[in-house]
Amino acid sequence: MLIGCPREIKPQEFRVGITPAAAHEAVAAGHRVIIEAGAGLGSGYSDDDYRAAGAGIVDTAAEIFATAEMVVKVKEPQPVERKQLREGQLLFTYLHLAPDAAQTRDLLDSGVTAIAYETVTDRNGGLPLLAPMSEVAGRLAPQVGAWSLQKANGGRGVLLGGVPGVRPANVVIVGGGVVGTAAARVAVGMGANVTVLDRSIPRMSYLDDIFQGRLTTQYSSAAGLADLLPVADMIIGAVLIPGAAAPKLVSRAQLSMMKPGAVLVDVAIDQGGCFETSHATTHADPIYEVDGVLHYCVANMPGAVARTSTQALGNATLPFMMALANKGWRLACAEDAHLMAGLNTHAGHLTYAAVGKALELPV
Ligand code: NAD
Repeated sequence: MLIGCPREIKPQEFRVGITPAAAHEAVAAGHRVIIEAGAGLGSGYSDDDYRAAGAGIVDTAAEIFATAEMVVKVKEPQPVERKQLREGQLLFTYLHLAPDAAQTRDLLDSGVTAIAYETVTDRNGGLPLLAPMSEVAGRLAPQVGAWSLQKANGGRGVLLGGVPGVRPANVVIVGGGVVGTAAARVAVGMGANVTVLDRSIPRMSYLDDIFQGRLTTQYSSAAGLADLLPVADMIIGAVLIPGAAAPKLVSRAQLSMMKPGAVLVDVAIDQGGCFETSHATTHADPIYEVDGVLHYCVANMPGAVARTSTQALGNATLPFMMALANKGWRLACAEDAHLMAGLNTHAGHLTYAAVGKALELPV
């Protein structure tokens, strides 16, 4: 199969859909891989890295869209890319169609067969192509929160781990899923005093087991969180209610209960945010202050560490990309219900029920 990977053109996106390692595997299996010149630069991969892996370099994205049987990307196709997609072509990337009627319309009009990373499932009921980015965002959260706590950045001037004779910072993590667990790992490692709130007893039991007393778990209730506000130096919002906007867990009025210079890191901002005063920010201008409390609300946190994120995403997508290339999408999906769960559009038909429901379109 001819597999193509254009350079990402969404603003502030530095990841790339195919790593040189993935290109190497595809070429070794007998496929041809073409990469747009410069596509890997944001993640630290040169054109020569791809050539060494056996891939061809082409000058324009147009050549890829015109010839590739499968286009592999990171972000949803932008309008100029959507115009070039066509029936009989396979698109494998993040799509997030439910809130995006214009993109859905364009994909249906193009006739492309589109498999969305975010709806591919695994046998544990998880989302294996979303989880690596949650791992990245979770591990990043205490790091950006610690930076925000520094005095020069407007924070309380508190070091997460304290020093001998000085208490460590109190970090509260709301939501103990993939993001919350990854955040806990780093916050505990930095020496903070960590409390994780969740509503799932099995999840708290799991955290209690793996952290062996190095953090505290607490059932997530409005009253329980309110008790923690006056003592928290940092609160990381990591809740998810699948298919729904994030619940607002801290109101504006409650900010006055917090210490001046404390930090809210709202990782759930891509689902609307879990603090009332959150609004999405960018890597260029990541923090702002409301009532003396700093807010970090970057909606694409993994972009800050594009190389790590590209590798993590590439590791997760590779087996699916290879199955699609080796077998063709029909057989690959027929043999793997989890990959089939990723199919969102085919030949002008919407094939994913939740998107149809959200956009009131027939499936
Ligand atoms: P997950 O499903 O693994 O975990 C969510 C957890 O929240 C679950 O354990 C659930 O029990 C818990 N929860 C639900 N309601 C709660 C409540 N009221 N109080 C406490 N806990 C509650 O999801 P995840 O992969 O960890 O993702 C968490 C959030 O981070 C999502 O909104 C996701 O979209 C977002 N995210 C953001 C970025 C970014 O760049 N900003 C990157 C990756 C993920």
